[in-house]
Amino acid sequence: RPSPMAARGGLQGVAMRIETHDAMILMEDVGKWYGDFHVLQDINLKISAGERIVVCGPSGSGKSTLIRCLNRLEHHQTGRIVVNGVELTDRIRQLSGPLSEIGMVFQGFNLFPHLTILENCTLAPLTVRKMKRKDAEAKAMAFLERVKIPDQASKYPGQLSGGQQQRAAIARALCMSPKVMLFDEPTSALDPEMVKEVLDTMVGLAQDGMTMIVVTHEMGFARQVADRVIFMDKGRIVEENNPQDFFENPANERSKLFLSQLL
Ligand code: ADP
Ligand code: MG
Repeated sequence: RPSPMAARGGLQGVAMRIETHDAMILMEDVGKWYGDFHVLQDINLKISAGERIVVCGPSGSGKSTLIRCLNRLEHHQTGRIVVNGVELTDRIRQLSGPLSEIGMVFQGFNLFPHLTILENCTLAPLTVRKMKRKDAEAKAMAFLERVKIPDQASKYPGQLSGGQQQRAAIARALCMSPKVMLFDEPTSALDPEMVKEVLDTMVGLAQDGMTMIVVTHEMGFARQVADRVIFMDKGRIVEENNPQDFFENPANERSKLFLSQLL
């Protein structure tokens, strides 16, 4: 097992800019283990600004781990990850600096239950960005309007439907002006009738040019917005293609099997 990457990187807490040309996200030979279990193997991925990537694959294939390595909820052990010109090392703290530019939306919404929707949206801008309350609230209301729930601002998460909570979570992430948005199965915990309202919000984001990585099995969404579909199996990227070719003519046996089981 290779040694950890702790020795790598710049001075303590000082992020050095790296020239990655047009890549917003660069993963080079990334490897990660959970104990002895090799969960990510030889991951190579280059994502340009404005690109939309859909990641799919069987349960347990490493999709969430890949996303979580990008926002430092997990740490990789080999290879390197560069986001917006900054290499992600063990020293980079999650909420400060470059990582505050990565927005994340989870399957389970993950709103703070004891805060109102507006407070959920203003918390990080107030504490991490040190915005003035008035400005943070105005920005939050603008995004809540954009996800079509301005009328829910003073309610608590538990008072909202699942679809509304997920749209609130998207608004909350947008309040930090992220350069990249990561979504990990954002609709899989929703009742079917609420899936569309969340997907429509995400399509709107894509149309505005947001760089997005979306783990989803919503193939309609993938066809509509993805520039590339990435198929993972057993910790590896085993196929990467445009949605048309991926869905109509998958090259890999495991992709074929996976797609046949979805329909
Ligand atoms: P996916 O999102 O594609 O379903 P995950 O990235 O969640 O896959 O998990 C990949 C594999 O890693 C699974 O076998 C899972 O059981 C394992 N795994 C995930 N998180 C941990 C952890 N914290 N510790 C040990 N094993 C884990
Ligand atoms: Mg997952």
